[in-house]
Amino acid sequence: MKKHKVKILETFPVTHDVKCFRTEKPSGYDFSPGQATEVFLDHPDWNEEGRPFTFTNLPDEEYLEFIIKAYPEHDGVTKQIHRLDAGDHFLVSEVFGAINYQGEGLFIAGGAGITPFISIFRMIATEGDFGSTRLIFGNKTQADIILHDELKEMLGDDLTNVLSDESADGFRSGFITREMIVDHLKKSHSKVYLCGPPKMMEQVMGHLEELEVSEDSIVKEEM
Ligand SMILES: Cc1cc2nc3c(=O)[nH]c(=O)nc-3n(C[C@H](O)[C@H](O)[C@H](O)COP(=O)(O)OP(=O)(O)OC[C@H]3O[C@@H](n4cnc5c(N)ncnc54)[C@H](O)[C@@H]3O)c2cc1C
Repeated sequence: MKKHKVKILETFPVTHDVKCFRTEKPSGYDFSPGQATEVFLDHPDWNEEGRPFTFTNLPDEEYLEFIIKAYPEHDGVTKQIHRLDAGDHFLVSEVFGAINYQGEGLFIAGGAGITPFISIFRMIATEGDFGSTRLIFGNKTQADIILHDELKEMLGDDLTNVLSDESADGFRSGFITREMIVDHLKKSHSKVYLCGPPKMMEQVMGHLEELEVSEDSIVKEEM
């Protein structure tokens, strides 16, 4: 597996535990919106520990962008990555990914599971029309929502935010329910796109099964 060492060009905070990293892009390196790569720290103690992260920018841009949530209570790769800044390096490997855009649909994301959809939505915003596309986005609190303002600007009223640990005006409370999916799933949707942590994926897959949404119309990736 070929690894490319890339310099971090800039970093900035996205939420209290999520940081954006823009890096150099190796020549000839190509990806499609929704795809990911394995990232390795440039350190002998960590160089076998690759972790998957999604590209959040557009393929024709001259840099790579990652939006990375850290788990500071755990001394893992994400905690180390968050210590990096402009001028530092990490390594990226081959491009892979189960998610790719296959037409208008219902997107359902939990937490950092929004990352593959960011690149896809940015592509749709640049190239075309969101049409009947909708997003249901589950988070614990408002402070955890990644790129809320950008998503709101792109999707307007077709964005439904669901907060499990907080009540707030304009936000649904609790978990993503079967009823929410019924409300937002349209006949014009060719796919349901689903990405999030294992527990949320399991719950939503249960709802989709009850609603008899066929497996082959679900595009999904667990994070
Ligand atoms: C294809 C793919 C693409 C991904 N893209 C992104 C992305 O763009 N941005 C991003 O932030 N994450 C993304 N992830 C998730 C990311 O890979 C993990 O968060 C990361 O591997 C954690 O590495 P670690 O070494 O810090 O923790 P690990 O040692 O791998 O994990 C140990 C512990 O950390 C905690 N933890 C780690 N990950 C999670 C999680 N997702 N949810 C809850 N607790 C967790 C848990 O307590 C877990 O037991 C992606 C995952 C996949 C499969």
